[in-house]
Amino acid sequence: MGQENPYQMAVKQVQSVGRLLGLKEETIDGLSKPRRELTVNFPVRMDDGHVRTFTGFRVQHNHARGPCKGGIRYHPNVSLDEVRALSMWMTWKCAVMGLPYGGAKGGIICNPKEMSKNELERMTRRFTSEIMMIIGPHKDIPAPDVYTDSQTMAWIMDTYSMSVGYPVPGVVTGKPLEIGGSKGRDEATSRGLMYVVQDAARILNIDLKSSTVAVQGFGNVGWHAARLLAYEAGCKVIAVSDSSGGILNENGLDPLEVFEHKRATGSVKDFERAENITQEELLETDCTILVPAALEDVIRRENADLIKAGIVAEGANGPTTPEADRILREKGTMVIPDILANAGGVTVSYFEWVQDLQFFFWSIEEIKKRLKDLMRSSFAAVHGVSKTQEVDLRTAAYMLALKEVVRAAEARGMFP
Ligand code: NAD
Repeated sequence: MGQENPYQMAVKQVQSVGRLLGLKEETIDGLSKPRRELTVNFPVRMDDGHVRTFTGFRVQHNHARGPCKGGIRYHPNVSLDEVRALSMWMTWKCAVMGLPYGGAKGGIICNPKEMSKNELERMTRRFTSEIMMIIGPHKDIPAPDVYTDSQTMAWIMDTYSMSVGYPVPGVVTGKPLEIGGSKGRDEATSRGLMYVVQDAARILNIDLKSSTVAVQGFGNVGWHAARLLAYEAGCKVIAVSDSSGGILNENGLDPLEVFEHKRATGSVKDFERAENITQEELLETDCTILVPAALEDVIRRENADLIKAGIVAEGANGPTTPEADRILREKGTMVIPDILANAGGVTVSYFEWVQDLQFFFWSIEEIKKRLKDLMRSSFAAVHGVSKTQEVDLRTAAYMLALKEVVRAAEARGMFP
């Protein structure tokens, strides 16, 4: 993680749009603070027999519009402020997409790369039991995020279900298909991103068939984004990176070959048909579309001016600082903001939850169609506001989202 505190960044975004909308300072203050924050310190027995105490968080930012929703992250740099910021971004994302949820996020400070599968399972199950009083299918529904996956969700679902005494598939999304997962969830974030990139290209009169792409992060979001942009949208993916470094081939990389290389060697680096590049070089690659799909705070004041892509599609949450945003806007770069660009994930999570509550499952065709319709209509709404209000897409998306949340809060009124 970089230098900017992600929570301060998230608050700045709310303050600037809140004031633009003429919201009262007391309303902005309320929207800037998470409703509920739970910190848990809990023991886990490691494989060598010793006991280690882990710290985890679950933060629920706002539930005016419905139960809370948001991923769980396992990373050494997880902090309460990071989880707060991520929970706020979930609130705006669900509102932009018109999903009946508020925002939440969770995380554990740990290094999953240095833990065995058994240790990860014990840590996940104990964490679930520690946060059990605030999660549930009608309260707060976790999902995968950085270094958590469908297996992690299966353990959470099982732990929760064992505690209440019956299977509760709707307590998490991003589960394996066998226990109530949804078709299309794995690639949903990236498929949604592809749809909005196609919309953006149409508006900018860019032909995707002759466009080049650089992707930072080659995990769930980055890998599927590279794959879909190459194979379905027809772009040429020329650079990708992961935590160990990046690779570049101006003639194009085959994402599947890179995926196989990463599976075999553990990283994208040293791929034989490409040259190794640094993380900074990846971001500054001369390309049409840049997809940051790793962590927050990577496009900053220091490097924003060096970004050459005409479109930045934020697969990651919070990759661009407000200062960098201003620089990109002045340069004429179109930034498709995280709360729209990566909203395909929570959208198909919503589909999964609806299917789980009904115990009635949809075909992949139906999922893709519903996802495409929602992404397209949300992009059109955000783009429409950006035109009429003469603001960038992020400001437009925030304007729509904040208004939705405030309207819902006003309709419910204040308790008591
Ligand atoms: P993941 O754990 O599957 O992948 C993360 C990737 O980032 C890995 O390839 C890792 O090597 C790479 N990485 C880590 N540090 C890096 C660095 N400094 N430079 C370059 N690469 C680095 O995680 P994910 O689920 O793909 O999430 C990635 C981002 O997308 C996060 O910001 C997450 O919040 C966001 N996101 C994820 C989803 C989802 O459905 N998984 C949905 C919306 C947003």
